[in-house]
This record gives sequence, C-alpha cells and structure tokens, in this order.
Amino acid sequence: MTNLSVEYEAGKVIFSEGDIGSSAYIIQEGIVVISSEIGGVHTKIATLSKGQFFGELALIDDKPRAGTARALTPVKLHAIHKDQIQSRISDQDPVSQWLLQNVLGYLRNRIDMDKTQGSNTQEGQSQTTQSQLPPPVQESNHTVSQDNEDVFSVMKLENELKQALHDGALHLEYQPIISFKDNQCIGFEALIRWYNREAGPISPAVFMPMVEPTQLSVTIGEWQIGEICRFLAEVKSTTGKTVFTSLNITVKQIESGRLLSLMKEQTQKYNISPSQIKFEILERAMFLGEKVNEFFEDCRIEGYSLVIDDFGTGYANFWYLNHYHFNTIKIDKLFIDNIVKEHRDKHICQSMIQLAQGLDITVTAEGIEHLEQVQLLKELNCDFGQGYLFSRPMKAQRAIAFLVPD
Ligand code: C2E
Ligand code: CA
Ligand code: CA
Repeated sequence: MTNLSVEYEAGKVIFSEGDIGSSAYIIQEGIVVISSEIGGVHTKIATLSKGQFFGELALIDDKPRAGTARALTPVKLHAIHKDQIQSRISDQDPVSQWLLQNVLGYLRNRIDMDKTQGSNTQEGQSQTTQSQLPPPVQESNHTVSQDNEDVFSVMKLENELKQALHDGALHLEYQPIISFKDNQCIGFEALIRWYNREAGPISPAVFMPMVEPTQLSVTIGEWQIGEICRFLAEVKSTTGKTVFTSLNITVKQIESGRLLSLMKEQTQKYNISPSQIKFEILERAMFLGEKVNEFFEDCRIEGYSLVIDDFGTGYANFWYLNHYHFNTIKIDKLFIDNIVKEHRDKHICQSMIQLAQGLDITVTAEGIEHLEQVQLLKELNCDFGQGYLFSRPMKAQRAIAFLVPD
C-alpha cells in the first residue's frame, strides 16, 4: 500500500516548478514555502502551515507545477494522489467541469503574466504591453476538458427553459393510473411538457436530467405543486371524485427543504388531503443524505405517499425498503415489455410483487401497452397499472373527462 504520510527535513524541496505532479499535499506539521521563478529570481508566493493544502493545481489541470514547494521547517505531509482528485472532477456535471477549467485557465495565465511582468520590470520595460494580456484559455488534455459546444447548449437550454417557465410555456399532462381490482382510474401521474418554439416538443427525459442538479429544478417543482393541487380541486368540483396525483421529484428539490411547506400551503388553499399526493423518486437517484431521510420521515408523519420509480433499474437496495415507509413501487416498462413472452421477465416481476406485498407496499406496473400484459399482471396480484393501453398522458381537461363514464 502507498504510504500517504511523507516527511521532509528543513530546506528540502518537495517539488519543483515545471515538474509533472502526481500528488497534492495537506500539511500535518511544519511550514512550507511556495515560490516561483519571476524574472530569473525565486520569489516567495505563499507560506503555508498546518491544515493547508498545496500542489493541487497541476493535478487538476494536468500541467507542470507552477511553483516550487520547499520545507521551511521539518514537515509532515499527507499526500493526496492525482487519481483521487481527477476522479472527483470527472464526476462533476459538464458545466462545473467547464467552469473549473476556465477559472484554472485564468489562474495559469495570471501566473504566466506575473512572470512576464517580473522579467520585464527587471529589464525596465512597461508592465502592460498587449503581449501580456491573458492568452485565450487552452483546453487541458485530461478529463476536465469538455466540448464547449455541449456546455453552451446545456446552458442555452437551461435559459430557454427558465424563460418558458416564466412565459407559461410549460404545462403538465396527466396519465391515468388504473386499479386492477375494479379497472377504475384512481389517480394520475403528472408529467411535464415543454413546447420549444424552435425545436418543437422536447422530452422531459432530455431536459429534466439536465436541470436536475440546478436550482431551476426547484423552481419548476414549486410551480408544479400549485398546478397539481389546482388540478385535484378541479377534478373534485367537476366529477365529485377524490383521486391522487403523483409528482416526480428530484433530490435537489428535497434538499431545497421547501417542498413540504409549499405542498402544505397549496393543499390547504385548494382543500386537498395529503393522501391525494404521492411523490415519485427514481430508485437510481436515491441518495440517502440527512435531508432525504428527514423528508421521508416528514412525508410519513404528514400523510404524503412515497413511490419508488423505475424500481429494479437502479441499485436495488433492500435496506431502504426496510428502513423507510415507501407506499408503492413502480415496476419499470423494461420488465413489463416482455412479461408475456419471456419467462425470466415474468419471474422477476413476480418476485418484485411478492417482495412488495410482504412489506405492505403496493405495486404499479408501468408502460402497459397490451391487454395480455394486464391479464398476466392481474394473475401475479399486481395492484395498479399505467400505460398507453389505458391512456397516453393528457392535458388537464381531457384527464378530467377521462374520469367521467360516457
Ligand atoms: P417516468 O417518471 O418513468 O414517466 C413515465 C414515462 O413513460 C412518461 O414519459 C410516459 O409518457 C411514458 N409512458 C407511459 N406509459 C407508456 C407506454 O405505455 N409506452 C411508452 N412507450 N411510454 C409510456 P415522459 O412523459 O416522456 O417522461 C419521461 C421521464 O421524464 C419520466 O419518466 C420522468 O423520469 C421524467 N419526468 C417527466 N415529467 C417530470 C417532472 O415533472 N419532474 C421530474 N423531475 N421528472 C419528470
Ligand atoms: Ca415517474
Ligand atoms: Ca417510471
């Protein structure tokens, strides 16, 4: 195993300017001086002590060391390997990678400029010639580098979506969820729709994952809460029926901490019971931080239902099934597609249904397109179904009409 603790005697060089770096360091004991050659003279840039971090720049942008690090006193350092830093950067979304790359580019240019100015000053020249302006940012050659066009199109899309929300160009459609007990529609899943003037309809499967890590997903979620409560009130006043609506939510929305207070406000305004609201969370997006735990617990206390979406496609983790009170799992279309023809798909669905039933969790099968699938799912004791066979997602008025028998 690599020894992560390294020691240097006073005066020893830890790394030199121009070296190719393989580690960054956290100082555990002692003092380190960082210097750089400016106009042929070693110039001190920083004096660092316990707890401070250095040497990361060359690892992030994969370029030679910008300065020399020397132990001023005997030092003990904790080394952080290049891979540890680079793997974290490549886990970031493309926009964050691009921003980091730009900031580092400017920092490198600034260092180069200081060096040029240093040598010019020594030669008695002006400090602000055109040639000293920062050159354009160069792309680095490792994972931080990203096709700028991709980044711009993500940002453009995000801005257009923000504008669409502001202009009222987003709307929700509602897809019926059918009970297999009596073939009645007992609720709807709300699905967002965006018609872009240039590009036409854009699928939420394309734009929601892009906005998911941003604040915009929180703003969209807040708008949706008002929409679904208004819809449920209209269903009640038009048809006399009390149904539920399922809303897809993101971890970012949960972490915003405002989801339930806003929901409470709107359910009270429209006289909706919490039992009419279900939150759908993608199994693969389930990241059980403290805020998410609190949210699950608050939902249980307040009476909102929790649904695990696309069950079986994420990191199927039975620990959270045991620890949190999920009301429903949704079996992904992927398993339902071949349930009639493929014995293995049928067996997987049957196992998921049995597991859920044993835990007092109901099951919705998604993406049902054929009657034979319904017959088989009923035999397997599945509770609810959703799919084009019953109805495609519809605008609010058509969804309300769907509830009224001809
Ligand atoms: P999802 O939550 O799994 O939603 C079900 C998707 O399957 C919907 O696609 C629905 O129109 C589609 N679908 C339903 N029945 C059938 C069927 O029988 N056959 C086929 N081929 N498709 C069927 P949609 O509306 O395009 O949404 C795609 C995904 O985008 C959703 O998958 C969800 O993950 C996300 N999404 C949609 N609306 C929202 C939203 O308001 N908020 C969030 N956070 N995500 C959303
Ligand atoms: Ca869903
Ligand atoms: Ca789903």
